[in-house]
Amino acid sequence: RAQLNTPCLWQEYAQPRQEWAHKGTYGHLHVIGGAGGMLGAVVMAGEAAYRMGAGYVTLTVPESERLALAAKVTQQLIWSWPGQEVFDAGSADVWKEKRERFSAVAVGPGLGRFAGEEQWLGQLMEEVEVPLVLDADALNILAAHPSLFRRRKKGAVTILTPHPGEMARLIGSSTAEVEVQRHQVARQLALKTDMFVVLKGRYTVIAFPDGKQVLNPTGSPALAKAGSGDLLTGMIGSLLAQRIPAEKAVPMAVYLHGKAGEIAGPSSHGVMVDDLLRAIARVRSTTV
Ligand code: AMP
Ligand code: MG
Repeated sequence: RAQLNTPCLWQEYAQPRQEWAHKGTYGHLHVIGGAGGMLGAVVMAGEAAYRMGAGYVTLTVPESERLALAAKVTQQLIWSWPGQEVFDAGSADVWKEKRERFSAVAVGPGLGRFAGEEQWLGQLMEEVEVPLVLDADALNILAAHPSLFRRRKKGAVTILTPHPGEMARLIGSSTAEVEVQRHQVARQLALKTDMFVVLKGRYTVIAFPDGKQVLNPTGSPALAKAGSGDLLTGMIGSLLAQRIPAEKAVPMAVYLHGKAGEIAGPSSHGVMVDDLLRAIARVRSTTV
């Protein structure tokens, strides 16, 4: 197994913000998801992205959720899609124009499943040229329509972040089977799809498209709570939006997410998302 000294990699990026920076310096992440009842998922991903340093975050949710979201967030730009279609007649041009602004895209937190999902995700995978993180229901849509894997252009950076249950669906296996061969299944999926695979859980496995893999040493059972995966998606997306190469951004984000879980307090039972968000801000600028 390849050795990757993540803390050492991180030194280069753990610098304070550049004095002459403007918000464009730190990239623009687009988070898509937050269907009915799951708005919190995109909000958490977006906040984690800001805590990791992104200059801009845009959240895209279904039109029906737009007002509810506006009441919840302050710093995020909000965009919505009519019905469930980002790419339908009305929004295709808007999407084309806006797409140029994003330096990374994360899709899936609270996305839900919907009629036309296959076409919807296929088009997104095809059209997004910047690094793309696929999480949660985006992974479940991929599992239901495996031909979608081929819609991504060769060489386009793609990150899959399944927990063991999502991984089981992706490879047509069971969670128990995944858990006894975490390394093998992560590596096989990464090689087969030419994508980065982050198989989550205690000692998250990160498999690279070239077959290399690393085991993340950080983490805490404080993270075993709803929302922590959404934070990770925002953190990975944020570092990618900041134009850090994926071979570094992915292991670094996983490492720092685990660190944040370790230091969040007040007790491993009582940690809430707000505690984690503050901890993310702390680990972002510290050499760990
Ligand atoms: P999700 O299941 O999508 O909400 O993601 C949960 C996140 O929390 C992943 O990043 C997991 O690796 C992390 N996590 C959950 N439980 C633990 C644990 N017991 N130890 C370390 N990390 C954990
Ligand atoms: Mg999740």
